[in-house]
Amino acid sequence: MSEGIKMDVRRRAAGVAEIDLSALRRNLQQVKKRIGRREILAVIKANAYGHGAVPIAQFLVGEKRSMEISLLGVAYLEEAIQLRKAGITHPILLMTGCPIEQIPEIVRYQLTPLLFDAASLAALSRYAARRGERVNVHVKLDTGMGRIGLPVSEALPFIQTAMEQKGIRVEGILTHFAEADLKDLSFAKKQFEALKQIWTALQKAKMKVRYCHLANSAAIMHFGAAHFNLVRPGLMLYGYSPLEEETEIPLKPILQLRARVIAVKKVPAGTSISYGRTFFTRRESLIATVSIGYADGYPRLLSNRGVMIAKGQRAPVVGRVCMDMTMLDVTEAPSLSVGDWVTVIGEEGGEAVWADELARQAETIPYEILCGIGERVPRIYKER
Ligand SMILES: *Cc1c(COP(=O)(O)O)cnc(C)c1O
Repeated sequence: MSEGIKMDVRRRAAGVAEIDLSALRRNLQQVKKRIGRREILAVIKANAYGHGAVPIAQFLVGEKRSMEISLLGVAYLEEAIQLRKAGITHPILLMTGCPIEQIPEIVRYQLTPLLFDAASLAALSRYAARRGERVNVHVKLDTGMGRIGLPVSEALPFIQTAMEQKGIRVEGILTHFAEADLKDLSFAKKQFEALKQIWTALQKAKMKVRYCHLANSAAIMHFGAAHFNLVRPGLMLYGYSPLEEETEIPLKPILQLRARVIAVKKVPAGTSISYGRTFFTRRESLIATVSIGYADGYPRLLSNRGVMIAKGQRAPVVGRVCMDMTMLDVTEAPSLSVGDWVTVIGEEGGEAVWADELARQAETIPYEILCGIGERVPRIYKER
């Protein structure tokens, strides 16, 4: 990154996210270590879980790179078009389906939709065949998630019909786990068995389909039997574990988020802080106002609960988190001054606050913390 951009970001007052691409590479190596010769679909939906879909895709599958990623996964057409317009030519799986009104763009941008209903299948094959095109599709089965997909009982006839269409190439079949993050994998095993049964039947019938997949990060990490021939890591690429239990797998969060000190003031005991006056200082205190709020994705539930790092000291959030600003008790960090940075997510001076800790305090999951980081926060990318 150029010095010019760095200067520009430094001059800004809002929060700044710094993304370590070398850590992303190491997390990807942890995926590879577990899957042998199976292939990888890197999940970069929701702006790559808040990390910036285009730069992350460029790092993973850009012209000069070879990270051995077979496909990219996004949720919606708009996300895929953004990648195509940025010059990403890699296969992209549209993981929410194939809306009929989007078929012209799906074909034009050479995207790979999920299929799970007869109407989309008919419309897509007609549209593609008329243009002499053949569109890769993956057939989605619902084996227990209850979200999207065909019932298992309808899978084989549907796949058979799809394979007979001129404009269609069935490249994959897949399903999605509902609770592969739990220590108790009994429901996950049922889902795995259901997919395996269809996969085995396809092979017996000599119906050639290239990919069979269902492993998300959780299954990659602790359900090796479910890897089939393609895995779909999301969260673990960004450095967090979805697992209920502790893991030995060394993942490293790739994003650190900092905010700027806008004001510091010494106030007497009994001073109320922020909207609703939910906090009163109990002693003479040093209070810092920092440049991040719920509009930037810092959850309002962290009011009087969250913690940031100021000058290497953990500093509690005091009073309610505001839209653009948050107050901290920095009495233990007396040298903090206006213009300094505090760490919202990340490590500083031997202390660390990561998105999983914030998530627990805010009664959510690290996924939601990461993909909630707002548009106002510039992302800067480093490769060490
Ligand atoms: C989001 C998503 C994933 C990735 O899940 P992680 O838990 O982040 O690894 C995989 N597959 C599908 C269909 C998804 O929607």
